[in-house]
Amino acid sequence: MPAEIPPSPFGERRYNAWNDYVKLRHGGRVQKISVLGGFTCPNRDGTLGTGGCSFCNNAGFTPGHLDRRQSIHAQIDSGLEFLRRRYPRTRHHIAYFQSYSNTYGEFDRLRACYAEALAHPEISGLAIGTRPDCLPDRVLDYLAELAQEHIVELEIGVESCNDAALQRVNRGHDFASSADAIRRAAARGLEVSAHLILGLPGESPASMLDGARQLSALPVRSLKLHQLDLVRGTALAREWEADPAAVTLLGEDDYIALLADFIERLSPDILLQRLGSEVPPKLKLAPHWNLRLHELAPRLSAELARRGSWHGSRYETAFSTLS
Ligand code: SF4
Repeated sequence: MPAEIPPSPFGERRYNAWNDYVKLRHGGRVQKISVLGGFTCPNRDGTLGTGGCSFCNNAGFTPGHLDRRQSIHAQIDSGLEFLRRRYPRTRHHIAYFQSYSNTYGEFDRLRACYAEALAHPEISGLAIGTRPDCLPDRVLDYLAELAQEHIVELEIGVESCNDAALQRVNRGHDFASSADAIRRAAARGLEVSAHLILGLPGESPASMLDGARQLSALPVRSLKLHQLDLVRGTALAREWEADPAAVTLLGEDDYIALLADFIERLSPDILLQRLGSEVPPKLKLAPHWNLRLHELAPRLSAELARRGSWHGSRYETAFSTLS
């Protein structure tokens, strides 16, 4: 390492990674197996709207092999078959209810879905993705009960800390709703992951960096960061095709720089679980760069090293440096 680069308290990676924490906490690698529970979301079923969030096409993040007609048990079996070959040293597998809002539905139905996954002998827990406005206390109480005996990771789609951006993408809830859900979940001892998109229309660099401050003030355990990708079939993709000036997309270097700016301002207590997204090429319309996730991590570390900074190195002073 060149002499002028200060050492990072986090080693060469320069940020706190979720995977390291998970391995320590659970004695080895924990692998998620995606399953479809057959849920919808209030932004699609007419409760809030029918068009959905303007960036959303669930096909963009639903593994192609999943088949809702199969039981959850059978979906887990198919996922296990694939993952055992790829990650033979995994210690725990957890069922990942990722697509749509997986706490949105009749309580008994939710309970039956989670119970079916947990009844699988190879499953040690659940990861449940949802919207902040689909987390009534009764569901949180139940998840907290499950967390007494199983791994339970609750992934809340915050998407932005800026209400103007949330409105611009037709999200149907505000940031206060996310903050409230995160606090209520954490108060029950649940580990909360926040999902955040960098580069939504309606954001500015300052508003996104202010998001690091706002999230840092909340009891968030880990963060999944994504760049904005335009996925075919979404309202945002159609907007961009009609007028590319309507949606500004981050270039590869811009995204790495923004990621570094954001992480410098983020509390080091919030572990980084994901640094970007990978949309299947046939579904991705733009931007035209395609850094794989395993390529993103070293690029971020190299950028932090180049700056002589690290995760949280500007955390306490983040406010005074923002315009
Ligand atoms: S992102 Fe989630 S809440 Fe928004 S439309 Fe898609 S499934 Fe519904």
